[in-house]
Amino acid sequence: MTAEILDGKAFAARIRGQVADHVGRLKSAHGLTPGLAVVLVGSDPASEVYVRSKGKMTREVGMNSFEHRLPETTDEKTLLGLLDDLNEDPAVHGILVQLPLPGHMNESNIINRVDPAKDVDGFHILNVGLLATGQKAMVPCTPLGCLMMLRDRLGDLSGLDAVVVGRSNIVGKPMAQLLLRDSCTVTIAHSRTREIEAKCRAADILVAAVGRAELITGDWIKPGATVIDVGINRIPAPERGEGKTRLVGDVHFPSAAAVAGAITPVPGGVGPMTIACLLANTLTACCRANGLKEPEGLTA
Ligand code: NAD
Repeated sequence: MTAEILDGKAFAARIRGQVADHVGRLKSAHGLTPGLAVVLVGSDPASEVYVRSKGKMTREVGMNSFEHRLPETTDEKTLLGLLDDLNEDPAVHGILVQLPLPGHMNESNIINRVDPAKDVDGFHILNVGLLATGQKAMVPCTPLGCLMMLRDRLGDLSGLDAVVVGRSNIVGKPMAQLLLRDSCTVTIAHSRTREIEAKCRAADILVAAVGRAELITGDWIKPGATVIDVGINRIPAPERGEGKTRLVGDVHFPSAAAVAGAITPVPGGVGPMTIACLLANTLTACCRANGLKEPEGLTA
C-alpha cells in the first residue's frame, strides 16, 4: 500500500480562506474586525520567526494584529499588567503569549491570567476543564488542526481505535480529549508505555507527538491506518552538504507511508494547520464575544 499524503499546506490555505471570508462578512454586516494580540518576551530566534509569521497571516485574513515585544528582563508583574490591559481591550479578541517564557517567570501564572474567552491557545486551566468535560472551550490549535484533518479524511470518527503517542499538555492530552469527544476509543502512550509498538499497531488513527526523530517506523503501523505526525525535529543531513540539516517528524516517513492508508508529511502536514487554527480560534472568540453565530467547520 502507498499512503495518501495529507497536504496540510493546502488544507491550511483553505481554512485561512474560510476565515478571511467570514472576517469580510463580520466587517460588512457588523463593522467588526477580529483582533489578535501576540506577546513575545525576549528574543528567542525561533519564537521571533513564529511571531512574525503569525502577524503576517493575521493581517492577510483581514484581522488586526497587535504585537507586543518585551525585553527578556521583564518582570512577571509587568507582563501580568499587560495581559490585564489586553483582557480589557474590546479590540482584542484573542491573546497569545509566545512560549517558552524566560526562566524567571511562572508559566502557569501567566497562562491563567489571560481571559479564558480570549485564550486562543486553549491553555487556560478553565478551557482545559471545559474540553475535558465536553463543554464549549477554546481548543489548543495543534490538536484542533489534527482533528480537522482526521475528520476531513475519515468523516465520522466514532468507534475508531486511536492511539496518541505523547502526553504533553499542549498536544497529547488535548488531542486525546478531542478524539474521545468524537467517540474514538483512545489510548495515550508515552515514554513509560509497555509494548508500545503493539499498541500502536492496533490503531486506526495514530497521532505522534513525541519529539523523537523518526521513532515510529512502518512496523508500528496497522495497514491502512491514518497517521498524523505532529513532531518537528531537525536532524543532520550530510547528503545536502556539510553542516546541513533537514526537518523530519516523529514518524519514519518512507516506511510508514508504505503501510498507512494516509499520512501527514513533515514539513507541510500539521505545522501549517496550527497557525490556521489560531486564526480560526480568534474568529470564534470574536463571534462569541459579540453573541454572533460561530463559523461552521472551524471549531471542534
Ligand atoms: P513534549 O516534550 O512536551 O512531550 C513529549 C511526549 O512524548 C511526552 O509526553 C513523553 O512522555 C513522550 N515521549 C518521549 N519519549 C518517548 C518515547 N521514546 N516513546 C513514547 N513516548 C515518548 O513535546 P510536545 O510539546 O508535545 O511536542 C511534541 C512534538 O511535536 C515536538 O517535536 C514538537 O516540536 C512538535 N510540535 C509541533 C507542533 C506543530 O505545530 N506541528 C506544535 C507543537 C509541538
